[in-house]
Amino acid sequence: MTAHTPMLQQYFRLKEEHPGVIMAIRVGDFYEFYGEDAETAATALEITLTGREDGGQRIPMAGVPYHSVEKYLARLIAQGHRVAICDQLEDPKKAKGLVKRGVTRVLTPGTIVEDSMLQAGQNNFLAAICVLDGNIGLATLDPSTGEFLVTEIGGDERDDRLLAELARIRPAELLVGPQADEFGNLAQNGMGVSVRTTPALNPDRAARKLMEQLQVRKLDGFGCANQPSAVIAASMVLNYAEINGLLLSHVDSLSTYSVDGFMRIDAATRRSLELTQNLHDGSKRFTLVSVLDTCKTPMGTRLLRKWIEQPLLDLASIRARHDAVGRLIENSMVRGELRDEMTKISDIERLVARCATGLASPRDLAALRNSLAVMPRFGTALARVAFGRLADIRDSIVDLAPLRLILEKSIVDDPPHALREGGVIRSDFDSELDALRGLGKSGKNYIAQLEATEREKTGINTLKVGFNSVFGYFLEVGKAHLSKVPDNYIRKQTTANAERYITAELKEHESQVLGAEEKATALESDLFHRIRIQVSEQSRSLVQTAKAIAEIDVLCGFGEISSYRSYTKPTILESSILEITAGRHPVVEATNLTFVPNETEIGGDSKPSLMILTGPNMSGKSTFLRQNALICLMAQIGCYVPAKSAQIGICDRIFARIGAKDELALGQSTFMVEMIESANILNHATEKSLVILDEVGRGTSTYDGMAIAWAMTEYLAEIGCRTMFATHYHQLNALGEQLPNVANFQVAVDEIGSEIIWTHRVIPGGTDQSYGIHVARMAGVPHAVLSRAREILVELEAKGGEPRPTPTQTTKLQMTLFEAEKPEVVGALEDLDVNQLTPIQALGLLDEWKRKWGNS
Ligand code: ADP
Repeated sequence: MTAHTPMLQQYFRLKEEHPGVIMAIRVGDFYEFYGEDAETAATALEITLTGREDGGQRIPMAGVPYHSVEKYLARLIAQGHRVAICDQLEDPKKAKGLVKRGVTRVLTPGTIVEDSMLQAGQNNFLAAICVLDGNIGLATLDPSTGEFLVTEIGGDERDDRLLAELARIRPAELLVGPQADEFGNLAQNGMGVSVRTTPALNPDRAARKLMEQLQVRKLDGFGCANQPSAVIAASMVLNYAEINGLLLSHVDSLSTYSVDGFMRIDAATRRSLELTQNLHDGSKRFTLVSVLDTCKTPMGTRLLRKWIEQPLLDLASIRARHDAVGRLIENSMVRGELRDEMTKISDIERLVARCATGLASPRDLAALRNSLAVMPRFGTALARVAFGRLADIRDSIVDLAPLRLILEKSIVDDPPHALREGGVIRSDFDSELDALRGLGKSGKNYIAQLEATEREKTGINTLKVGFNSVFGYFLEVGKAHLSKVPDNYIRKQTTANAERYITAELKEHESQVLGAEEKATALESDLFHRIRIQVSEQSRSLVQTAKAIAEIDVLCGFGEISSYRSYTKPTILESSILEITAGRHPVVEATNLTFVPNETEIGGDSKPSLMILTGPNMSGKSTFLRQNALICLMAQIGCYVPAKSAQIGICDRIFARIGAKDELALGQSTFMVEMIESANILNHATEKSLVILDEVGRGTSTYDGMAIAWAMTEYLAEIGCRTMFATHYHQLNALGEQLPNVANFQVAVDEIGSEIIWTHRVIPGGTDQSYGIHVARMAGVPHAVLSRAREILVELEAKGGEPRPTPTQTTKLQMTLFEAEKPEVVGALEDLDVNQLTPIQALGLLDEWKRKWGNS
């Protein structure tokens, strides 16, 4: 280290104190990276890698301008890096020797609050998990909004429930505490979450830490007093924020929730239903959220996502939302007014968080002021529809008029982004500031007039007053007039054509101007910080109001989309009915002008609970299945639904198994994934669940797959959950005739000559037509292949549908459940009377059979 220059010694010493992070150090107008960090940053940010001399060696160096540093940091963090910001801790102009520097913040994926690094409509969660006495504690904090939640997960399906919850939350960063490594690995590898192993406090210290944060003496009021694992997880989050230099004074409340309070949706189902991310590229195009999001505020968009990810189970709460939407549909004028007002409301949650973390800019306070200015009109409009849930929301809005007045009186209309230059505080707000500004102004006026008076005095009519940052104000005289320069002029600088002078009088006024300006800027900064603290003191009321606005925004959005897409109010019941007339797929209908609506009637007391749906490829089976799942989900988030009418018994869970997707990253084959997901459904579906299965069993040989599909159908029919099973195995239609709880449906196709037309209509009765060759023709498969396929088809159908090798087929067909002769072993088993056997005889028999048939 001794070989380094002093500045680099400082850099590498600070870096040693923060292992595992990339260090950006402020040097002049740049943030710079050195050594290995420079190489990493240069590659990650595509910036030039240079070098600098350092104690006889050349050391890699890269830098980014300080004013656009956030943009670069965001890119580093998005790539999973953690970045320590090392700032100048004293004014470089006043520093003696090397400027004192220190790490002021460590930015990590889960601890960012800077607006430019966040997505407006999405939360950015820092989560922590730990295991204690068999329970998993999970804490989630969005530092940028102050939302802080904990839960404890135990019991039978503990691990599944945790993983489903993590898949819902999709934390930006996950802290993994004691005994939770395994979940950390799954989150990292399966969900791509940035994971960090973190030490945990013991239960007592954890509780103290949490109480300190919430400024309470007991945790009972927050509902987590008896959930030590959750408390530990919460303290891990707080600790992590603290060591990374993130202030959390706005986090003064915490909610404890239960994962059982919401509809359970596992990760595979979330993916299959394309709720917030599509299967194609993971973006939000063509997802449910993209159709439903007409929100006017980022807070609304975030809440909508949350609702979509956590549908309700409580009948009364669901109906309350539906009633609110209904009222907003009827009162379209009020809805329009509310939505208009909301366009003027900024992201209050994040503004408050930035005030509390000390990062709020003058523009942030102006945005908050403008948002609060809207509140009286917003409140008046809301009062006109305030019944039921809407009345509750209105009551939760806090009157923030005093804060609004302070902001209105203090902050100029259109303040600059940075506080540095001043010009933020209005005149008439602070008399001392006004006096300083007056002083500065009169000094400036004097200097402005000086040019004229000096010209007159000296007779030099080209004399000019100028200013530069090195020696302040000066008088400039051209070379031709040097003889007229009076004695009291003190020469300071010579330029090509002129000499520059100062006078004692000029310096006196200059120090008055500069002193006053400097003092005014310092005072402005002081006043600004005081106002910022006043905002922080109102965090709780502001956040509560922001939450109310978010909910109105989502409900108005539901009203809006329900109106223009003709959604209807669903009837929600406790039974297990699913009856939909003229149902549509909310996303497909938004892009397809001629969507064909369809009926659904399953479950309840009088209808079979399981539907087998056959029909050719591309006929609309997947779409129909998903539309039913989405309609149920939409109903349970409180939205109206795309249908003419809908009666929906509350679904405790929705399971969707659609389309095979290789999880190669996890080392699992398509079929394995399919079976894991199917096993999950079979093990967890209840008579209140909705199950949609699309082409299960396709990943293996025909009869193998069919046998699995068959057995699964029987099993699900037995459970009695509402099930829709789309399949190519038309043999399964036999189940519709055998089991009272199973009904066959098909997607109808019209045949006109050799042409087929997809009607997309779901009608009763199964079909055994696949039209695969038609589809192949439409797709442009060569003629020769098509006619050969027709030949083979005729041959196969003549043989009763049993696949047999033909001269062009080399596939080795498996012995199957349906076609094999009865094997000897089955005969032996049938002849056996178990009641007549002793255990020893049974073992002997097994041994004999094993030798005889074991390897056949
Ligand atoms: P399948 O699962 O039977 O192969 P899909 O559900 O994938 O078929 O639908 C195939 C295509 O048909 C999709 O591109 C979709 O846009 C269209 N489609 C599906 N259902 C309908 C419908 N009810 N009305 C109009 N178009 C539909």
